[in-house]
Amino acid sequence: MANNLFDDSEKEQPSGKIATIAFDSGVDNVFDYLLPDKLGDVLPGQRLEVPFGRANKTTQGFCIAIKPAEQANKKHKLKFVKKIIDAAPLLDERLLAFGKWLSDFYVCPLGQVLSAMLPAAVKKGTGEKQVKHICLADRQEHNLKSKKQLQIIDALKAANAFDADSAIELNGLLQSLNIGTTVANKLVQAGIAKFTSQTFLRELPVVPAGMLLKTDKVILNAEQKTALDEIIKKIEAEKFSVALLHGVTDSGKTEVYIRAIEKTLEKGKSAIVLLPEIALTAQTVQRFNCRFKNIAVMHCQLTASQRNAQWQKIKTTSPLVVIGARSAIFAPVANLGIIVVDEEHESSYKQDTVPRYNGRDAAIKLAQMTDAICVLGSATPSLETLYNCKTKKHFSYLSLPNRVMNLPKPEMKIIDMAAEKFAKGVNLISEELQTALKQTLENKQQAILMLNRRGFSNFIFCPSCRYTLKCRNCDVALTFHKSEKLQKTIEIKDRIKGGFAMCHYCLSQTLVPHKCPMCGKAVTMFGLGSQRLEDELMAKLPNARIVRVDSDSMQKHDYYKLLADFDAGKIDILFGTQILAKGLHFPNVTLVGIISADSSLQIPDFRANERTYQLICQVAGRAGRSSKGGRVFIQTFLPNQPAIKFAVQNDFEGFVKEELKHRKLCLLPPFGRLAIVRMRDTNFDRLTAGSQTIAEQLTNLIGSLGLDIKLTGPMPSTISRIQRFYRMQIILQTANPANLAPLFDSFRRLKPSNSYIQTQIDVDPINLL
Ligand code: ADP
Ligand code: ZN
Repeated sequence: MANNLFDDSEKEQPSGKIATIAFDSGVDNVFDYLLPDKLGDVLPGQRLEVPFGRANKTTQGFCIAIKPAEQANKKHKLKFVKKIIDAAPLLDERLLAFGKWLSDFYVCPLGQVLSAMLPAAVKKGTGEKQVKHICLADRQEHNLKSKKQLQIIDALKAANAFDADSAIELNGLLQSLNIGTTVANKLVQAGIAKFTSQTFLRELPVVPAGMLLKTDKVILNAEQKTALDEIIKKIEAEKFSVALLHGVTDSGKTEVYIRAIEKTLEKGKSAIVLLPEIALTAQTVQRFNCRFKNIAVMHCQLTASQRNAQWQKIKTTSPLVVIGARSAIFAPVANLGIIVVDEEHESSYKQDTVPRYNGRDAAIKLAQMTDAICVLGSATPSLETLYNCKTKKHFSYLSLPNRVMNLPKPEMKIIDMAAEKFAKGVNLISEELQTALKQTLENKQQAILMLNRRGFSNFIFCPSCRYTLKCRNCDVALTFHKSEKLQKTIEIKDRIKGGFAMCHYCLSQTLVPHKCPMCGKAVTMFGLGSQRLEDELMAKLPNARIVRVDSDSMQKHDYYKLLADFDAGKIDILFGTQILAKGLHFPNVTLVGIISADSSLQIPDFRANERTYQLICQVAGRAGRSSKGGRVFIQTFLPNQPAIKFAVQNDFEGFVKEELKHRKLCLLPPFGRLAIVRMRDTNFDRLTAGSQTIAEQLTNLIGSLGLDIKLTGPMPSTISRIQRFYRMQIILQTANPANLAPLFDSFRRLKPSNSYIQTQIDVDPINLL
């Protein structure tokens, strides 16, 4: 390009300093640039504009360190930084260090992590307004004839407005003096006064007006007091520690969080409260809002300028309480004292795009880095957290076993679908559930039906002798998976074509017989669809007002309106996915039905049992939230399945014990740490070969570094093709979590063996599909 004939950089005066820069373009490296003298001081955490690559494309990056020029990487001739973008660092030292940890632990380029830590609205400055100010140019006296000009000068003198920092907002001043802009312009033209500009951001209310609820301060019960006392001891100690607060819904956990936060604020420190996005309703936010003076909210329903305003508020207010979804863990609070992670077991804390972090685990790390307290709350804690409480010295276990208001526990009932004598055709609703629905409607009460449609495959089952196809190595039911490849290539006598059965624990696969090996009758695969349920409900309850809720198709706004309608009694039966299981409070709901408890068991994931238990427990919490009581019907073909059996008996401990047995045998979390390397390519053969190379590279590194890591694969992912991309995966398992970091540290430095294959690394994966 002609412009490059005269290289500008030759003319720059170097300042003797170098900025190290991380880019969010996906390059997994950082780069050094010379700082020109004319730019003045640059600080880590500011964004800079630099020429990047051979074409010197103008690119933005984060300054992550400043060092003397002598420490430069001498191999390359360094280029000059062009421009400073942010007046002040967007990320302070604490957040930069946190970002570095995330980048290392979750194997993600540092620049991408830093970029993800900032809301887009903050990076763009959405909603910021430049407001014109005025101050005097100097302290000289001026002999002026214009009375109006003198008036302005007097006002500026009175306000001590002699520089940009003390400047007065122009419009306000002119209005109060009843003077027009031309007068001020003349003063500036004469060099007597100066205009300056200040950035302003309107604070926008994030809590809907008219929703200000008042709560009387409750008196904690003995259990809450014991738990709170323990947490307060930790707050007083001002050392890193984690407390698990294990308590059923309505046991008063939130009340304990609030008190712990009050104590933290008294010490001048701030709090971050993480909630699953779906639980961030106006009610929840409002509950915190009416207990704390300074609160900021970060979630996806805010507008861009609201988000920027909230972020700026966090940066400038201390101490304060930040409430938000997963990414609120990146809030720029100055002096962090406590982090609360409610519903810590929720899989939605894991982000499934880069950086693939888990908000809960990141919270624990951040608490450790800042000597803060982390409180994890759940009615059904994750096995990982329970295990940490047993084995790690910083963790402690606190429990709230009872509901605060002595409401009767809902009555739980298993319906064995295999024993149902159905009329012709397929039936998803048992006779008993149908009768209960009718009664509920007659009593002018409401029902919620849950159909977990996420299950995409069927389990294999003999309807006559109830034999279920099981894994050879583990005591678990196998799941049927459709496979395009098998459809085309393999045809084996007596075996079901087009798919295979798979074990969610050891991942072994087998073909499926047409006939039951026990009784010789034909096997069945059980599956269901929500459309079918809708038709059936309409046919069986023709007068009921029924609405289907679908988290995918329904807009947020419609969802809230729907919930309001349901609350107002305009709908009799609400049915839909898991979204209905969470945090809804409808006193008139006395019946809850889980159409198929089996469908969440079918997901090919070793956490399927754990999720099923959690789900039943959560859904059950929706029934009987008033003195009217409640009934929960759980339909299943597997009434003796441990997750279902224990959930109905409310025996969490029993469930955990049973589940841990399987996990231990297969070195799965919490006993082992997992990482998945996923590879995809549109060309199947290229993918197969490339995946093999990657597996070999990893195997070699494991060997040369002497790490105790088990590598399985490459093998096709459970869903072997998505959007025309074939998918393969390599699973890494280790008993010692410290093993993964050195492996990936070396692996990410290798040159990619094949530029067609897209590789992603998922550490502590939640989604195994
Ligand atoms: P959780 O977070 O475990 O679901 P909450 O803290 O939300 O429980 O408490 C459930 C309800 O009980 C709330 O309406 C709360 O105001 C009320 N509550 C909590 N603790 C007490 C208490 N000690 N006495 C009376 N009511 C309480
Ligand atoms: Zn198995």
